[in-house]
Amino acid sequence: MSADGVREPAAAAIACAGLTSYYGQAPALRGVDVAVHTDEIVAVLGHNGAGKSTLLRSLARVHRAVDGAVTVSGREVTAEGASSVARLGVSLVREGAPVFGDLTVEENLLLGARLARVRGRQAPDLDEVWTWFAVLGERRSTRAGLLSGGQRQMLAISTALVSRPTVLLVDEPSAGLAPAMAETVFTAIRQLCATGMAVLLAEQNMRWVSDFATRTYHLETGTIAGSVTAA
Ligand code: ATP
Repeated sequence: MSADGVREPAAAAIACAGLTSYYGQAPALRGVDVAVHTDEIVAVLGHNGAGKSTLLRSLARVHRAVDGAVTVSGREVTAEGASSVARLGVSLVREGAPVFGDLTVEENLLLGARLARVRGRQAPDLDEVWTWFAVLGERRSTRAGLLSGGQRQMLAISTALVSRPTVLLVDEPSAGLAPAMAETVFTAIRQLCATGMAVLLAEQNMRWVSDFATRTYHLETGTIAGSVTAA
């Protein structure tokens, strides 16, 4: 509340201002401003090499060669590392469905539940995960390294969702998934988004962007070329 009693707008769940990200001396992002609020699903669109992955990785502080500011719920985290930002509630699902291949499906998910506790949040029961993806329930005792690419993608996203992030950053959520499975992934993301989560995703498939995103940013060779809000 401001001094004159007017309610101030909530800080964005995650934002960056003037973000320039480098690989060596070469900037992959130049002066990018992005803000995502709780309950929003925002998509970043752009051609290959536009900088979508770099943006997600820079926000999660996995990529740290940056100028400009990154904030999480209004707190500047530009000087902080990935684990500190993860404790604050930011989860990144990188491209290629990273999972712990030597652990079972259930053990991967329990790591997500452990992170939820670190964040002081209640992890959903694993029975809920099996309602999203029955195949993961059937394969709960299987080593994750033996899953198909699509199943690994479901597991990577489920593990992130079980960790109850306040900000979910997902690189290409529909990659490797049949349309019915991608629909299930996006529906699960939307359900959890409505319980208090901000989502920023890089996605090439316009079908999912137009069905699920409330807003889009267009990245062109490292700069924001436009932003569109769904009608
Ligand atoms: P894609 O859809 O192909 O994944 P993208 O939009 O996610 O593309 P980025 O992967 O962020 O784009 O790449 C942005 C730019 O940074 C590209 O020019 C790319 O070649 C460069 N780049 C990305 N990763 C590295 C790296 N590890 N070292 C050097 N340059 C990199």
